[in-house]
Amino acid sequence: MFGLLLKLLMPYLAPMMLVLAQYEVWFSIPGEPMEFYSKAKSKSTAEKVARALRSGGFDAEVRVGNGSDGSTTGSSTAGSGTSTGGSSSSTGGSGTSPSGSGTSPSGSGTSPSGSGNTSSGGNSGPLVDDPYVHLVLGNPSGATANVANENNYLMKKNQYALAYSRENATPNWVSWHLDKNDLGGVDRSDSFRPDPTLPKDWYKVTDASYKGSGFTRGHMIPSGDRTKTNADNQSVFVMTNMIPQSANNNNKAWNSFEVFCRDQTAKGNELYIICGPYGEGGTGTSGKKTTIDKGRIKVPSHTWKIAVIMPSGSNDLSRINAETRVIALWMPNDQSVGNDWAQYRTSVDFIEEKTGYDFLNTLPTSLQATLESRVDKGPTK
Ligand code: MN
Ligand code: MN
Repeated sequence: MFGLLLKLLMPYLAPMMLVLAQYEVWFSIPGEPMEFYSKAKSKSTAEKVARALRSGGFDAEVRVGNGSDGSTTGSSTAGSGTSTGGSSSSTGGSGTSPSGSGTSPSGSGTSPSGSGNTSSGGNSGPLVDDPYVHLVLGNPSGATANVANENNYLMKKNQYALAYSRENATPNWVSWHLDKNDLGGVDRSDSFRPDPTLPKDWYKVTDASYKGSGFTRGHMIPSGDRTKTNADNQSVFVMTNMIPQSANNNNKAWNSFEVFCRDQTAKGNELYIICGPYGEGGTGTSGKKTTIDKGRIKVPSHTWKIAVIMPSGSNDLSRINAETRVIALWMPNDQSVGNDWAQYRTSVDFIEEKTGYDFLNTLPTSLQATLESRVDKGPTK
């Protein structure tokens, strides 16, 4: 296995040796905790390494490093060029920052060694973009990519993240980032199909599972949010992204809010969106049901959605403040739903209370309290 890996990684080893590594690649055997793998100077190199690891059957992700994380525990695995932030003992301080991620004191910016070629973008703020953009605002149910965690099973895709429930045969939630770069001219693929990345032995919902049920195949991340490439569009047609949604919920308010969110991207905004089903028992065009597909798929009683809207830019977490617009919706999964999404506005706290999830949990607690207790009253166009 590792022999093969080495072969896959060979072309990238040289760039990884560079001393001023700013990015870290972490990997794991699926279901195991992530371990530090190596550093890379550029994000694109780190991403290539991560891709190569994935093609070898590992989970892999790129994190922004400050010479802190992997280095101090230099022990780290495959070590390779670890070159632990060493170089510049000057950075000194940085080393302290725990867990790299959030807090680290702008150490990064320091980029000692003068060498001039500071990493692009100048990530100097205290908070940098999580390299995995779809979970920047947190993993509200603490989902993990462990097959034993079958009702809160984390699936990180390039185009979105979701937590899947094997028992319900639906996602618990789907989370994604949206900006104008996600939108292009690709046609809706309508390629509804089983998700091949579910664990082998699990029941896989198919297109046919919803036939004659009286419920629509309700996308959580909509087709319209992924129109840049055919692959992106097809990625949202796997059945793990669907819930049995009443026709009026799906086609009316749910849809009109999706359009509202996409329109925001043309107004210079980017969004973090998360949504999912809640409860049991909805009413479609064939009446009230608690399950469909011979009892295999649970029909929710409600749908909910949270959108955080902010001007496009970088270092998103650090730019969210008490003025940031957050829209939370709570809608019945029945045929009473009309086109006006605004009437379904509620607070994030309400949805947290219902679902038991903790949204926006990468933000400071006091900021969460402010944003989550508010019910949006902003413009609806
Ligand atoms: Mn809260
Ligand atoms: Mn919260």
